[in-house]
Amino acid sequence: MMKKILVAVTGLLALVAVNFAITRCESQPEAKYIFYFIGDGMGFNHILGTEQYNAAVKGSVEVERLNFSTFATRNFVTNYSVSHPVTDSAAAGTALATGCKTANESIGVDAQGRKLRNLTDVATEQGYMVGLVTNVGINHATPSAFYGHTSDRFGFPKLVDDYIAADVAFIAGSTIMDMKSGPIGSGVEPVTTEQLAERVRNAGILLTLDVEQAAKAEGQRVALVANDKENKHVPYVIDREEGDEHTLLNHTKAAIEYLSREAKDGFFLMVEGGKLDYAAHEQDAVATFYEVNEFASAVDLALAFAEKHPDETLIVVTADHETGGLSLGWDHYEIRMNKLTAQKCSALGVTKRMQQMRAEGKRDWKEYKQLLSDWLGLWSHVEITKEEEQLLKDDFYNIFLKYGPMVDGLYNKNEYLVYHAVQILNRHASLDWTSMYHTALYTPIFVNGVGESKFLECRDQTDIPKTIATIMGGEL
Ligand SMILES: [Zn+2]
Repeated sequence: MMKKILVAVTGLLALVAVNFAITRCESQPEAKYIFYFIGDGMGFNHILGTEQYNAAVKGSVEVERLNFSTFATRNFVTNYSVSHPVTDSAAAGTALATGCKTANESIGVDAQGRKLRNLTDVATEQGYMVGLVTNVGINHATPSAFYGHTSDRFGFPKLVDDYIAADVAFIAGSTIMDMKSGPIGSGVEPVTTEQLAERVRNAGILLTLDVEQAAKAEGQRVALVANDKENKHVPYVIDREEGDEHTLLNHTKAAIEYLSREAKDGFFLMVEGGKLDYAAHEQDAVATFYEVNEFASAVDLALAFAEKHPDETLIVVTADHETGGLSLGWDHYEIRMNKLTAQKCSALGVTKRMQQMRAEGKRDWKEYKQLLSDWLGLWSHVEITKEEEQLLKDDFYNIFLKYGPMVDGLYNKNEYLVYHAVQILNRHASLDWTSMYHTALYTPIFVNGVGESKFLECRDQTDIPKTIATIMGGEL
């Protein structure tokens, strides 16, 4: 009797399971190709500021709209985390990948540490091939939210293991981020980028530094990085040297070529403009605008793809949070973006050049003044007051020459002299920054293509991936 009941129950369970499976797959994907662009730290003013800057370069005081900012479907969402009113990229990445809010520093798990389903899972179930592109580390917060599960966003080796175990066909970025040893007694052993790269190769994944090889690879998973030896990021767009092929644009191009060929039933491609956030943490407006422009040219690739695949493509452009509290126009209805057009490298680039000069034994203020003039346009392009020059001179004699403290921009450190020079320059343009970190400002969404009107319902950033999952015919 007992046996009979057991058989009946098992049979029923099997039936339920089959039915469940059928219900899950019943929904056909609405869009065959889905692009998900995330500008890390890209608030409304980073976009508008770039549009004003681009106009200023051409001598206009108006705006030159970026491709995505004119998409017909536009909306904005909240982005706070469970633990903080202001999110970090881990919690925001998790929200954008899983549709669940979590605590800052958590990736792919909820605030209690429970594993969450993500868009990679849904995409795979629904027959899509998955690609992830960033211009920071492939195991940095945003990309790893699409495959990883940990309460510690800095546990980079664990995130590499999660990546290996996930169904991510193509991944591209600057590097694989390493882990330094923890404090004595913590038991945390250092793991180098080279060792992590070896781990990826041993898993049978083609890890390559060759963009073309990555684009043309057939029948195998690909990890494309600019550097597999050390934890080193690609330079800012504004500092890029001629011929450097490791760019967000080229990596996105390679991903599209690979996925168009390899994916039989459509693909899901996430592209993160990660260095945008770095530049904003350093409160470097011009470097930020260059990053936004590069991000927009990656969106151009998706638009060109959509032209060839109309009625099958969806393009979603959003941000995880705002960085820096950038404001446009502190000075009497004025914005003078033309003051910024003589800046030719990032704040970090100026810091490096200065440190080189100091190492060469140069101690004459005039030479450093010339450097600020050559690379940022102070004095040569923007009139600097006596008080402003005095502030810079004080930084030079009291801090710089004495190897004093530096300004911590979270990912990079700048000399006070450079930080203040860039701040003075931005103030002349009537721009200002209110934070070295993130802010709680609403983040934008711009959508183009199949199912776009569904995004008008989004109120919080967690609604975005849920909507994408629905368009895939699945659910998170
Ligand atoms: Zn950040």
